[in-house]
Amino acid sequence: MINDFHYLKPASLKEALAMYAQHDDCKVICGGQSLLIVMRQGMLAPEYLLDIKHVKELSYIKFDDKDGLRIGATTTHREIEKSDIIAKKYPVLVAMEQKLASIQTRNWGTIGGNLAHADPAGDPAPVLMALKANIKFGNEKGDNTMPLDEFFVDYFETKMDHGDLVLEVHVPAPEPKFGCAYQKFNLLDSDMGIVAAAAAVTLNADGTCKEARIVLGNAGPTPMRVTKAEDLLKGKKLDDKLFAEAGQIASEEAQPVADIHASEEHRRHVLGVLTKRMLKKAFEQAQKAA
Ligand SMILES: Cc1cc2nc3c(=O)[nH]c(=O)nc-3n(C[C@H](O)[C@H](O)[C@H](O)COP(=O)(O)OP(=O)(O)OC[C@H]3O[C@@H](n4cnc5c(N)ncnc54)[C@H](O)[C@@H]3O)c2cc1C
Repeated sequence: MINDFHYLKPASLKEALAMYAQHDDCKVICGGQSLLIVMRQGMLAPEYLLDIKHVKELSYIKFDDKDGLRIGATTTHREIEKSDIIAKKYPVLVAMEQKLASIQTRNWGTIGGNLAHADPAGDPAPVLMALKANIKFGNEKGDNTMPLDEFFVDYFETKMDHGDLVLEVHVPAPEPKFGCAYQKFNLLDSDMGIVAAAAAVTLNADGTCKEARIVLGNAGPTPMRVTKAEDLLKGKKLDDKLFAEAGQIASEEAQPVADIHASEEHRRHVLGVLTKRMLKKAFEQAQKAA
């Protein structure tokens, strides 16, 4: 049963931020794809719901060759999946969205809601972190931009305070000789990942590794970078042996817990395999890239 609540429907971002600041026992609702589940389970019973779904200023996808990609918080998963410019410049984001839940959920759920919800099993965060994304959030008094790497604090907890809204995700312009791949491991297609790994590789002109980023999903309280595995690859001529070593290190750096879906040991094993495979895939893309 969902509790009774007062429904607030702001007409603009300014009004949304003012309403949020004025109401203490207030939760934001956007697509409701995660919030309503939590409310139905009785884990949250806010007095006010602030519906930002129709705040038009936050719904956009913009790309510029120098600045990169900017996605407004109320942009739906489906809009990202169907964006021609994202398919061209960041195909890994489209591939990720195609496996996120059902079309019905993607039609209504939003990128801002997904990141604010901070489920460690969420699909967008590992990919966006591998792509070096920044997140902008703000309240009535001003806004704040930080690397997405720093945004997540714990299970379902972010750096945002009451009154803050996610406003935008920014992904830098793709570098030359760059590749990025993501895969989640699940038993039902499009379900939440039991674990997941994203890898990004940038190559130098001589073919050695300029930079590697590896981000694990559902491998701890937050989406996490495995920096020891990344460091292993920097400056080296990449090959299958190094990918396997990086996978092994990633599985050791991960902090998975056991639940009804998988044991800790099984999760570590799969994380190692996914890391190895995603690194190889990202590397092959980078080799072919301009
Ligand atoms: C059946 C099902 C399957 C799913 N499978 C997957 C999956 O495989 N992978 C995956 O990643 N996700 C999955 N999801 C979650 C889905 O991605 C949601 O769309 C997303 O997590 C929440 O987006 P939303 O817009 O619906 O947010 P809401 O449910 O409206 O809000 C979620 C949380 O974020 C807060 N919030 C929302 N927008 C903002 C904002 N702009 N600023 C600040 N706080 C905000 C809310 O207060 C709430 O705490 C699934 C959901 C369902 C129902």
